[in-house]
Amino acid sequence: MANRNALKLYCLKCNNSQLHRVVRKDMWEDKELEIFFEDEDIIEADQVVKYWIFQIVACSKCGKRSFREFWHDGTFIENDKEIYPKRGLVFRKKIDFTQVPENLKKIYETTIDLFNEEKKLPCAICQRIIVEGIVKEKFIDSFQLEEKEKKRRKNLGLEKKLNELAHAGIISYNTTNALKTLKNMGNDAAHEMEVPTMRELDFGLRMIESLLKVVYDEHEPEMTKLADQMEKSKKRRRNS
Ligand SMILES: [Zn+2]
Repeated sequence: MANRNALKLYCLKCNNSQLHRVVRKDMWEDKELEIFFEDEDIIEADQVVKYWIFQIVACSKCGKRSFREFWHDGTFIENDKEIYPKRGLVFRKKIDFTQVPENLKKIYETTIDLFNEEKKLPCAICQRIIVEGIVKEKFIDSFQLEEKEKKRRKNLGLEKKLNELAHAGIISYNTTNALKTLKNMGNDAAHEMEVPTMRELDFGLRMIESLLKVVYDEHEPEMTKLADQMEKSKKRRRNS
């Protein structure tokens, strides 16, 4: 490492990779006994020193602090590196949906956590659960249905439910087709244990986010917020 005080790390506030500098540092010497065996006998015992390094690092752009720890044995090779708050190579921020029902929002947030932890199989299964959840909510729960019709709708397969939702104009036919792709990924994960790539999961999550926006009409509050900001800005300009 060229400069031990400058690190390239993912910043949770900037939401991208940034140079970080070490602003605080502490060290702890941990002695461990290492025993070497030959066959069943001890041939050597050694005290191994682990130098634990603890750092508070700051993003050079926004100043956000993180905690970092690792150990080395004098060679400065960083072992068992950890950083808090946790982040992977990839990090997706959760969208704070205001109109999405609470249970769906919870599954969505779990799905993002699984993605960030690179737990691919459960992430794919959760993506499918979200599709199922939206369909259930928009196709069955939000209507006062007669028992017979409720039963009929419940018993339809996901694909048929999606078709009927498109027919009712709740989602477009293009969206329906896209969701079938998503459904297939979840099925392959659940039934065949076929592990999708991070890239495939990323496509899936982007589809889910745009679906949640479309179905729960999240565009409107965003528009209202933007219009609000525009008005405020205009007022400031006129008053200056
Ligand atoms: Zn930052």
